[in-house]
Amino acid sequence: MIVLHSPDSETVAPTTKKLRKPLKSDPRKFSWNKKHFALQQGKILTSGWRLASQLFFTLLCIVIGWQFIVFVDAVYTTTSGPLPYRPPGAEGFLPISGLMGALDWINQGSLNRIHPAATVLILLFIVLGFIFRKSFCGWICPVGLFSETLARLGRWIFGRNFHPPVWLDFILRGLKYLILGFFLWAILAMGAEALHSFITSPYNKVSDIKMLEFFRQMTVTGGMIVLILAAGSVLVNGFWCRYLCPYGALMGIVSWFSTVKVHRNDATCIDCKLCDVACPAKLEVSTSESITKVECIGCNDCVSSCPVPDTLWMGTKKHAVSPRTIAIAIVISLIAVTGSARLFGIWDNSLTDEEIRYHVANMDSNEYGHPGMETAGEDE
Ligand code: SF4
Ligand code: SF4
Repeated sequence: MIVLHSPDSETVAPTTKKLRKPLKSDPRKFSWNKKHFALQQGKILTSGWRLASQLFFTLLCIVIGWQFIVFVDAVYTTTSGPLPYRPPGAEGFLPISGLMGALDWINQGSLNRIHPAATVLILLFIVLGFIFRKSFCGWICPVGLFSETLARLGRWIFGRNFHPPVWLDFILRGLKYLILGFFLWAILAMGAEALHSFITSPYNKVSDIKMLEFFRQMTVTGGMIVLILAAGSVLVNGFWCRYLCPYGALMGIVSWFSTVKVHRNDATCIDCKLCDVACPAKLEVSTSESITKVECIGCNDCVSSCPVPDTLWMGTKKHAVSPRTIAIAIVISLIAVTGSARLFGIWDNSLTDEEIRYHVANMDSNEYGHPGMETAGEDE
């Protein structure tokens, strides 16, 4: 039985086993509407501002992707003349290169000019993680939106998403930290010289183009892996993000230091558990005073779902941050940081059109293989 606790007395109003709607006689104000009934039926809804932010960044990635394809195709098909615009934002898909660039920046005292935007972007997302938790996963990442859409498809097909048993979920969640740990170990184990050599290596100069070609000329194995991940995301909400994404793991660790959290006022909570239903990370919001878990993507969905004003909020203990503020702050910081990087000359890479044509023409030679992956025969 669920009970309503009055904030100003010990009055307990019994309800039916499954709370349908707060009692009208309750002294507090409720804003119970269609959305809450939808949530009760297991439909996961999200704030319009979050969806707008996700769509904005997805659209931005599509435009950047299209510009990058036009650029790469021109590299292949022309032998002289200026190349079309190469969007530096494409380097946002090179997070490892971005992290390496950040470490190399510390070692060398200046940011490399091969993939400077990769470093600028990952540092921006890390700072946003300190401020708004895993806002990168919940508000920016197009893969996150795609994954949420697949989960919606799963609910449409099967009427629900599936959840592995708690013990298996715990083990699977650890996988993304193992993957992140492997990358961090590989980066940190490199000395300053080796790291700088990697960044200026022929391989790194074309790593963005190689990444595009990986998706354009996907092997059967690659295609199967993508299909398995997509199928997993249809069945389990956030399959890729929750279990495998090292970027999300990094953002989760960063978010642990954030002072912005979801807080709950136990005195006004009616224990309707709509916040638990709404939470895509499957956190037990309704029984927590504040959410400190690294799995919280800062999506605000629990807050939007709560029918009792001022009972659940995202922010510091005393000040709430609205979804509108988060969405606007993220977009403004992106514009400010990328604009400043451009102004200070640490946004565009320094390769000339001729150099790019030369590197791409030789991209399949051994010289452009991943450093450290050469065969013994090739080394001799
Ligand atoms: S606790 Fe709230 S903000 Fe965090 S992931 Fe769950 S619904 Fe989103
Ligand atoms: S905090 Fe959660 S359980 Fe409490 S009233 Fe709000 S939605 Fe219901």
